Amino acid sequence: MKGFLQTKKDEMIGLLERLVNIDSGSTHKEGIDEVGGILKELYEELGFSTEVVEESTSGNNMVITYGENPSILLVAHMDTVFRVGTAKERPFKIEGDKAYGPGVIDMKGSQVALLYAMKALKEKNLRALESVQIVLNGDEETGSETSRPIIEKCAEGKKYALIMEPARKDGSLVTARRGVGRYSVYVTGKAAHSGIEPQNGISAIGELAHKIIKLHALTNHDEGVSVSVGIIEGGESVNTVAPTAAGHVDVRIRYAEQAEVIDAMIREICTTSDVPGTTITLEGGINRPPMVKNEQTIELLEIIKETGAGLGIEITDVSTGGGSDASFTSAMGIPTIDGLGPIGGNAHSDQEYLEIPSLLERTHLLAEVIGRLSAGE
Ligand SMILES: [Zn+2]
Repeated sequence: MKGFLQTKKDEMIGLLERLVNIDSGSTHKEGIDEVGGILKELYEELGFSTEVVEESTSGNNMVITYGENPSILLVAHMDTVFRVGTAKERPFKIEGDKAYGPGVIDMKGSQVALLYAMKALKEKNLRALESVQIVLNGDEETGSETSRPIIEKCAEGKKYALIMEPARKDGSLVTARRGVGRYSVYVTGKAAHSGIEPQNGISAIGELAHKIIKLHALTNHDEGVSVSVGIIEGGESVNTVAPTAAGHVDVRIRYAEQAEVIDAMIREICTTSDVPGTTITLEGGINRPPMVKNEQTIELLEIIKETGAGLGIEITDVSTGGGSDASFTSAMGIPTIDGLGPIGGNAHSDQEYLEIPSLLERTHLLAEVIGRLSAGE
């Protein structure tokens, strides 16, 4: 398989360049659909059947299948976090052993790896292809709102789920992720001139300040719980008592049981006003369950480790705070491993990079792992 992939190296980098140079930020439907269109054609050329699930505002999602009864689900997202114009400002480039560009590691490199793993299997292990089902989604970076039900439906009855987020900087796979919640706290007060009649005003900012302190106090690093107000907005002018204010809250949890508890505490905090006369509206909730490293994760990891050892790759694994679609399949009780994409780092920044030698190496690993898992049926 390695020899086959080596002959495809330039082609793989060419496709990577092509995909990176298309802006496909989560809100840029056109770009995501363009990426989806290219991949659709390439999978169909390989003999896969594709089903595009049209979405009205976010990028279309796609379900890709080869055989009748697939037992392994692979998930890879096509959207990035970058605004339109980024690819023009800093297009794909190679410096030494690294490739740069928006989404190069998160996760256009993974898209290339996944496609070429399929090509390698088509060449060497047709039976393995038949055990594969792929979901390419277009809204992962904003919480997988439209793709979650598709992923969950495809995951039903599968034996394994392999999620194509990049491997960590040190090459580690991901076996645990914290759960994620997003909330917004909207406060309404009453405007008044803060010089002439401040006594008639009710400060929404004052109220929000109390809420921020109470919300932050829910953080417990030992328990893996963090609550962080990452964005605040509010006020009209510096000499007006603020009539409105809002705080946007990021919540992380380590265990599924923490979801209900932390959600109830956040709601409790927002039911009463500290500044009399203000009203509070709370929106949001826990939207990704945690991915927990359980016994079946460990079993699957062992298989991947053995496969890696056969290729001379030492596989390590880590837990991370970031969310991904692995949470959905893991919460359904399906053995799930994430981080099967190439190695790289600095995702979501202008320093994002992919280690070029890992593109081939991890594609090879993925193909062998799928071969091994399908043979075990
Ligand atoms: Zn990602």
